[in-house]
Formats: sequence, C-alpha cells, structure tokens
Amino acid sequence: MGENILVIVVGLLILWVFRYLHTNQHLGRIKLDLMTDAGIQYTSKTMLEFLGEEYKQKLPKLNFGDLSKHKAEYDIDLVFGVYVYDQKMIILDIDALKKHGHNINYLAEIISHEWKHYVDHLLDITYETVGVEMCEQRAHRFAKEGRKLIMKNIELEQ
Ligand SMILES: [Zn+2]
Repeated sequence: MGENILVIVVGLLILWVFRYLHTNQHLGRIKLDLMTDAGIQYTSKTMLEFLGEEYKQKLPKLNFGDLSKHKAEYDIDLVFGVYVYDQKMIILDIDALKKHGHNINYLAEIISHEWKHYVDHLLDITYETVGVEMCEQRAHRFAKEGRKLIMKNIELEQ
C-alpha cells in the first residue's frame, strides 16, 4: 500500500521534472535584461517570421525605439509595443521592456498583440473602421494564443 503511493509519487515527480525540462517554460521566463539588444531584436524578428508563416501573411515592418512619447496616445500597458497603421509597422521599446523586468514570454505576447493589429488592418478592421476598443479587445484576446504558438515553436526548434 505505502509502496504503491511511493511509486505514484515518484512517478509524478519524474513526470513533472520531465515536463519542466522539455517545455519552454524556463526559456520563456528568461528576463530580457539578461539579453543583448541585438539578441532581443533577433528573437523578435524570429517570432514575427513564425507568425507570418503560421498565418501565411507577408510580414509587417519591424522597428525598435523609444515609445515613451506615445504614452498619452495609447493604453498604458501598450507602451512596450505599437502598431503604426500608415506604415504597416510594429515598433517595440526594448529599453522599456527591460526596465520593467519583462521576460521572453511577455515579448511573445506583445508581438502577438501587435501582429493581430496588423492582420486586422489587412482585413480593414482598424481603429477607424471599428473603433479602438474593438481592436484592442481582439489584439488582447489573441496575445496569449499567439504567445503559446510562438513558444511551442521555439521549443521545437531547439
Ligand atoms: Zn493594441
């Protein structure tokens, strides 16, 4: 009886360790401030390229820069990334992401969020046509799904 329980407990423990080592959870938790800017830029590009392949879409432009001046225009939690409609461009603020202690999982979420604005734009679902709230809801809802897809893919590539 006691032995059976021990076997189950040990079995579960092994399963848990196996799962931990073979998922990207630890990878996703890597803090961006431990990475170089070039490394983060490369990772961002790779994530975006994956979404492009996954959804069979041409890629939007990707740029990096200080977004603090956009704070008034955008929602406070969105200053880490923006999508610029007239240039079909995603801009990410690497310094802000680092400063706020964000990790690779969060980077994948931000990129997914901005990606959703881009693919919506291609379908003419924009701030102008359906309103800010609708666009943000759609992007927000997609962010976690996109992150999961991206991180699963990165795991497989390793
Ligand atoms: Zn947004």
